[in-house]
Formats: sequence, C-alpha cells, structure tokens
Amino acid sequence: MALKQEGKDSMIGNRPKIVVLGAGYAGMMTTKRLTQQFAPEEADITLVNKHNYHYQTTWLHEVAAGTIDVNRSRIMISDVINTRRVNFVHDAVVKINKESKTVQLENGEISYDYLVIGLGFEKATFGIPGMEEHAFSIQSVDTSRMIRDHIEYQFARYRNEKNPDSSMLTIVVGGAGFTGIEFLGELAERIPLLCKKYDIPRQDVKIIDVEAMPTILPGFDEELLSYAKESLEYRGIEFKLGTMIKEVKADFVVVGEDEEEIKAGTIVWTGGVQANRIVGESGFELTKGKVNVDATLRAPGHDEVFILGDCAWVMNNETGKPYPPTAQIAIQEADVCAHNIKTMIYGGTLQEFQFDDKGTVASLGGSDAMGTVFDGNKLYGMQAKVMKNVIDDRYLFLLGGPMLVLKKGKFRPF
Ligand code: FAD
Ligand code: NAD
Repeated sequence: MALKQEGKDSMIGNRPKIVVLGAGYAGMMTTKRLTQQFAPEEADITLVNKHNYHYQTTWLHEVAAGTIDVNRSRIMISDVINTRRVNFVHDAVVKINKESKTVQLENGEISYDYLVIGLGFEKATFGIPGMEEHAFSIQSVDTSRMIRDHIEYQFARYRNEKNPDSSMLTIVVGGAGFTGIEFLGELAERIPLLCKKYDIPRQDVKIIDVEAMPTILPGFDEELLSYAKESLEYRGIEFKLGTMIKEVKADFVVVGEDEEEIKAGTIVWTGGVQANRIVGESGFELTKGKVNVDATLRAPGHDEVFILGDCAWVMNNETGKPYPPTAQIAIQEADVCAHNIKTMIYGGTLQEFQFDDKGTVASLGGSDAMGTVFDGNKLYGMQAKVMKNVIDDRYLFLLGGPMLVLKKGKFRPF
C-alpha cells in the first residue's frame, strides 16, 4: 500500500537535520544517496561513526584468517563521502533519546529532525556460559585482527615450547552458517602457509567446526552445501554436526549430549548475530532482538526514525518470514530510506521496501566458492568465485566509483 505524505515545507528555510548513525553498508549508502537527493542548502546531513573509516564487514573473515591485509578492508570515510557536504562526527553513539530527538554520544549530544539508525550487528551468544569471555568473534576490524594475531601467536608459541601440547594448534569454530563456512575456507588457505612459515607439519594442526544442526548452512540448497562441505573437508576441515556447544572455557569447549571436551588454542564463535544493543537500550520495542519496522522502514510510533540493516526486522510478505541480515539488503534499504526522507520533507508517496534478490554466493577460500545467482542458477568453483568478486566490487563501485574499485577491489590490477 502506497502512503501519501503531505510534506513539511515549513522546514525549508529552517533546514531539516538528518542524522545517520553508523557508517556500515546501510549508513554509508544512505548518506551517499542523501547527498544526491538534496542540494547543500536543502538539508543538514550528519554521519556519526565510532571509527573514521568504513569497513567491508563482508571481508572480515579474510581479515580474521589473515588472508587479506587489514587495510584492504578499511576505507577512510573522507575518501568516499564529501565531508564539506556531510558533517562527519567521529564519535560513538551511547543512546538515542526518541522523545527529545537527540542522540547521546560519548563526547557530546546532537539533535535531529530525521534519524537513520544503521548501527549494525553484534554477536549473539545465547547465554552460553563462557562464550563472551573465552571465544573470539568476527564482528569488526579490531576483533577480526585479534583472531589473526592470536592464531599466529599460537604457532610461534608451539615452536618455542619444549613439550608443546598439540591442542595449542587446534582451532574450534562454533557454528557453520555463512560466516563460519567462509572463515573455514580462509583458514584452509592460511594454515598451510603458517605451517610453512613456522616449520610445523600440517597434520599437527586441527580445524574443527561444531554445528548444532545436522547440516552446515541450514536451510540452504542441499547440492551447494554438499559441495561446500566436501571442498572444505578435502582441505582438512573436520565437522561435528548435530552437536551443540554448551560451554566455553579458556582452553576447551564442551559439546554435545555427552559433554565431550575439545581442547583448543583458538575458539571462534560464528553462531549468530543480533542487533546492536543500543537500539533496545534506547527503548525501541524489539522482536527477536530487532526493531520490527513498517514497510517504509520507519520505527513503530516514530515516523521520523528509520531503522536499517542488521538492526531492522523487515518482513518478507511473500514468505511470512523476516529477511536475513545481509549487506545486500542493507544497501537496498538505503535507497528506500533516502527517498522516503525526501518525500517526508517535500511530500509525495512513500516507497515500500521490496527486496530484489540477486542471489547468495559464499566464498570457500582461494579460488573456490558456491552459490545461487539470478533466480536460482547454481554456481560452483572458480565461476562462483569470480561472481563473488564481481558482487564485492559492484558495492565498491556504488560507494566510491571506479577509483575505489582500483584501490580496494578484488579485481584491482596491482
Ligand atoms: P554494519 O555493516 O555492521 O555497520 C555498522 C556500523 O556501525 C559500523 O561501521 C560500526 O563501526 C558502526 N557502529 C557500531 N556501533 C556504533 C556506535 N556505538 N557508535 C557509532 N558507530 C557504531 N552479507 C551479504 O549480503 N553478503 C556477504 O557476502 C556477506 N558476508 C559476510 C561475511 C562476514 C564475515 C560477516 C560477519 C557478515 C557478512 N554478511 C554478508 C552480512 C553483512 O555483513 C551484514 O548484514 C551487514 O554488514 C549489515 O550492514 P549494516 O549497515 O546494518 O551494519
Ligand atoms: P547464522 O545465524 O546464519 O549461523 C549461525 C550458525 O550457528 C547456525 O548454523 C546455527 O545452527 C549455529 N549455532 C547456533 N548456536 C550453536 C551452538 N550452541 N552450537 C553449535 N552451533 C550453533 O549466523 P552467521 O553465519 O553469522 O550469518 C549472519 C548473517 O550474515 C546471515 O544472514 C548470513 O546470511 C549473512 N552472511 C552472508 C554471507 C554471504 O552471503 N556470503 C556470508 C556471511 C554472513
């Protein structure tokens, strides 16, 4: 149903303040689109982010395994957003005060007429004892870099101890969703290189994935997931399927009904994500940890607040289920959000979010990948990997044009 909007012309002359929280996929693309929708004199646009860079969340498994350099995944915000047009605030959001229309930052406060929340995800540990304290997670550049450094430290330690315990070189990955599978693919590439560097036989290293469901990638195409599993097993990854992680200690995990203990030097949790907790702490009503926004992406009872990306619960009316938290969706939501803010100011018809599913491709490390594109066509191996790289570079193109693709892209010539 299209929603007619009267428009708030009274704001013109008293420029509307549009504040975007978070410079992830949703926040960056919304900011970019807003600068295209409004002339400089029409609106004040502010972007708040806790780092002065944007990062490719979709490449963090590569940072975590050490198969790409940290800086490859980071893009300085000032390189892609015109900071003379957009007021960039390098600060962390603490709380959103909906009633006073202000945002409390670590170092100040800002007010808004329109707010876009794109604060992304954090790991969901489901209350598993010890997970928070003892497991690493692939959440940000900083947490991912710690995993890379920790794994390499374990290799160095193993070489230096007189009677090293081989479990030092065991890596346990919790969960075999897309993040877990993509990370395992990168580990399959990286570990042989570390073995060579530290003169350690490959068979001394164990990589074990523990997944609660009887299959990897639950719910995904069976042929494709079998392909992924075989590809990873061939490269030395072990799977424990239908086995739940119950507890995590400093150097072991407790799994399954019989409470087996698996000793490990590195434990990485990829068992699920939830919305940034700031959203709930700011009093937005949550459905399974996210805000159930309306079809125009606005928070219930707060027409001036848009919630996008991994913080939003957007229903797919065809399936009756919410869309999964993906970058693909966050980027598409940004277009609708920018359009709707303009409509709210000038009047017109608000757009409803319609997901244009371009498919799902998962990297399996090196030159391997698998997935579906364009109405379910299946791709495997090198062909799928090329497609994955095209998808990644398309986003860079949308964000920063050809120069950004040349600088950071997967197909860059140098
Ligand atoms: P994010 O991209 O997480 O951005 C949130 C931003 O908010 C960050 O810049 C963060 O620094 C900032 N922020 C957080 N807290 C604060 C605060 N308090 N104050 C200020 N700023 C803050 N999806 C796909 O579609 N395809 C893929 O191939 C894919 N691969 C993935 C691989 C991995 C390893 C992971 C972890 C996820 C992957 N996803 C993929 C999912 C995808 O990355 C997320 O759905 C997407 O990042 C969500 O975008 P977002 O804009 O909501 O949040
Ligand atoms: P997820 O929720 O998709 O997968 C988590 C997995 O952990 C599930 O298979 C679950 O059964 C398992 N698990 C949960 N609790 C467990 C326990 N106690 N013990 C063992 N296993 C347990 O989470 P994710 O993989 O982080 O993905 C998050 C989102 O990001 C998804 O929407 C995904 O589609 C998206 N993503 C997409 C891509 C891609 O398109 N290439 C890549 C990475 C992530």
